[in-house]
Amino acid sequence: MRRIPRDVAYGVPEYATSVLRVLEEAGFEAWVVGGWVRDALLGAPCHDVDVTTSAHWRDVERVLSSHGIEVHETGVAHGTVTAMVGGKPIEITTYRVESSYTDRRHPDRVVFVKDVRQDLARRDFTINSMAYHPDRGLLDPFDGRGDLCRGLIRAVGEPELRFSEDALRVLRAVRFACRLGFTVESETQDALVRCAEGLDDIASERIGQELDGIVCTGRMGWALMNSFEALAVAVPELAPMRGFDQRSPYHAYDVLEHTSRVCRAVEEFTGGGASRELRWAAFLHDIAKPATFTQDETGRGHFFGHPKVGARMCEMIMRRLAIPHDVTVSVRTLVRLHDHVVKPTPRSMRRTLLKFETACPGRAAQLSFALLDLKRADAVAKVPVCASYAIELDEVERVLRQELSRNAVFRLRDLAVNGSDVISATGIKPGPGVGLILKGLLSAVVNGELPNDRKALIESMRIQ
Ligand code: ATP
Ligand code: MG
Repeated sequence: MRRIPRDVAYGVPEYATSVLRVLEEAGFEAWVVGGWVRDALLGAPCHDVDVTTSAHWRDVERVLSSHGIEVHETGVAHGTVTAMVGGKPIEITTYRVESSYTDRRHPDRVVFVKDVRQDLARRDFTINSMAYHPDRGLLDPFDGRGDLCRGLIRAVGEPELRFSEDALRVLRAVRFACRLGFTVESETQDALVRCAEGLDDIASERIGQELDGIVCTGRMGWALMNSFEALAVAVPELAPMRGFDQRSPYHAYDVLEHTSRVCRAVEEFTGGGASRELRWAAFLHDIAKPATFTQDETGRGHFFGHPKVGARMCEMIMRRLAIPHDVTVSVRTLVRLHDHVVKPTPRSMRRTLLKFETACPGRAAQLSFALLDLKRADAVAKVPVCASYAIELDEVERVLRQELSRNAVFRLRDLAVNGSDVISATGIKPGPGVGLILKGLLSAVVNGELPNDRKALIESMRIQ
């Protein structure tokens, strides 16, 4: 049981109280609602403020504008306008309920109501269904505060009905559980499993947004073991991972549990601060194992080519989920290289940097460190005898740092020659050929076959 005080840990910010005041002076009722109330009770950093009010959005607009407050019609179909107060946005929504969801995505009709309790009842989870007012205090008809104490995500009302109204709530439950380190209350959890299939009807970019939210909490390891049904509908490619026996002396766990352990371990190796790219890569690094599985004559399992196939699958999955392109490219590259051999030598580190620089220009150093963390995590999630490899990687990382501090050559712009040098040394015409020659020189320098010396490089071009 957590100790949650009866009152919020800090006051409603002044810019928001001024909105409440203006609306109430005009004869309406208004409350702060949702995420701000939850986080203020938890004493978590101050959340952006959402306001719910008895005023119709047209009245909100009229009253606030007459007090010189800028108002934007950001979602009037749902009764929402956004006020800008002192440069801060506040979403203000009219008390409403949503009538039947025949397509499990959109309410057929939004109905404005007079009672704030009705508005709270249409919200998803008890911890998100509390309202707060600086004078009237906490309004908590579903014991959201109790569930904060108990660390529970509980649906408001009948869970199965709530998830079948809007299947996105299935992933929202997982996201809030991950974010707060809570568990999903058992009836809500049972309904979540039964209703997960409804996610099939949800637009993939909305699924992507929630999934990215789950990944970014750093608790995907927990989600994979506790809410796999939901994740496997959100990303069907995950489904074969559960119970997939790797038949390998190096693996004590099936692909799912291994992946979950890798997700946890990247957090341990980074002190809970893994990058978004590393988190996604841990989540998807073995996605192609089931598809590439073969067994040799002794019965041992192999997954030849799974990093390469996995990289292609990552690209497909992340594109479908509308994850930003630069994140996708980084993740795809980490997955492709997760079994790439690294050694504690300057040459091996330059080669690694070059591979990342080629695939993800400008992010080579950051991604090389991420790769080492991914490899460490992968090592400790196999059989115990593999775990010592994580320690060997410390020496690899030391050499990586050393190469970076010595300004190691791994980018075209690090070379002691440029395109004009290539043209004058070889007589080649400007065009793609110049780039190819430069890349050849870069590869030779990275591999230690040529020094990064202008004279020597020009000489080598003449000989060719
Ligand atoms: P976050 O920090 O993730 O933004 P939040 O609680 O503010 O947390 P939002 O998604 O911004 O979450 O939604 C604001 C509020 O609206 C929620 O607290 C909840 O009361 C309600 N809400 C949002 N989405 C849904 C939904 N799909 N079904 C029911 N209620 C919802
Ligand atoms: Mg919010």
